[in-house]
Amino acid sequence: MNFLYDGAINEVAGIFMRGKFRKVLFVADEDAYRVCGADTALESVFEHCLVSRFVGFELNPKLIDIQRGIEVSREFSPDVIVALGGGTAIDLGKLIGSLSVQSADSPDIIRGSDTITQKGPPLIAIPTTAGTGSEETHFAVAYIGDKKFSIAHEFLLPDHSIVDPQLTHSLPARITAATGLDAFCQAIESIWAVGGTEESTDFASEAVEIAVANIVQAVVEPTPATRMAMCRASNLAGKAINISKTTAPHALSYYLTSRYGIPHGIAVALTLTPMLTYNADVCENDCADPRGAEHVQRRIETIVKLLGASNPREACERFSEIVSKIGCPRSLAEAGITTTDQLQNIVSSVNEQRMLNNPRKTTSASLIELLS
Ligand code: NAD
Repeated sequence: MNFLYDGAINEVAGIFMRGKFRKVLFVADEDAYRVCGADTALESVFEHCLVSRFVGFELNPKLIDIQRGIEVSREFSPDVIVALGGGTAIDLGKLIGSLSVQSADSPDIIRGSDTITQKGPPLIAIPTTAGTGSEETHFAVAYIGDKKFSIAHEFLLPDHSIVDPQLTHSLPARITAATGLDAFCQAIESIWAVGGTEESTDFASEAVEIAVANIVQAVVEPTPATRMAMCRASNLAGKAINISKTTAPHALSYYLTSRYGIPHGIAVALTLTPMLTYNADVCENDCADPRGAEHVQRRIETIVKLLGASNPREACERFSEIVSKIGCPRSLAEAGITTTDQLQNIVSSVNEQRMLNNPRKTTSASLIELLS
């Protein structure tokens, strides 16, 4: 079941009662839990349960933390997992719950050389950022060393998502900006994605509309209404990419995060406008979408209109203005990435699967040219 309203955290009690849950593995971002205000509702539910707490992990799920969590889960054998935090905690909850019941080795599943075959314990996802939309997706991100993997399986989709915008009131401006940009870019990419459908485009268009109207105020002068709006945008963007998947800006972002420590959403936004310009010039010869270049052009027009612009160049300006108003770098150069060597490293470490979902085909040379 999915809930999205102020106070939705109180739904956890009913879910526990209906599921008769008694042994809970609580995967929580401690910093977020301390400040987000979920403790009153959750601790009163946990009082009646055996609770194992998995905390103290690094941001962006690392193999070592996943393996540590799997050991805890196998020993404790929970009948439910509650994951609370940003995308890191929710993806860890997905991976720990699911990988702890597989017979295959976790690194093999993460690398894609083996697969998930069993469903793990029920998962309740409680996001405290707005956000990744991970509560609505069947994906989880994991890092082995510098390399990022996206694991996709229907068993990774949370059984319940509790989106309580009040839990995001404690987010500082910089995290509101970075996570809001993630949702904003996911939604834009979803509209032009090869994997996009009418349904995903409807979710994504609504998400872009809401983000355009609310992201600046949510960062600069947040109100309960703008927090609620960004939670809706993020949740809709999650529903959209759950169908369409993401494209080039995401494919290019992972190295920026792992090598330079640029927060995920900010890293994605750095290449959004060059890719918008590039994708707008799609023609039949380089179109990756079997529906053809005209279809892609129509999708780009949708994005341009949603950004309140009349052509792709203006749309890029509009997007850059928003990024600048929320205090984030507008380009790779502004983020300190200026040399050809740096660009080559970014391009050579690109996530190829996500790149194939971009509507216009790319080559290493075309990417370096457009990012320069
Ligand atoms: P995050 O989980 O990495 O957390 C970022 C920071 O925000 C942390 O310092 C955390 O303590 C803090 N924080 C979280 N909630 C807070 C709150 N309410 N108040 C104060 N501080 C708070 O950030 P994220 O951007 O939500 O997640 C990023 C991760 O999600 C990346 O690993 C990314 O690859 C992944 N992701 C997954 C999916 C998916 O579908 N599975 C989609 C997009 C991104």
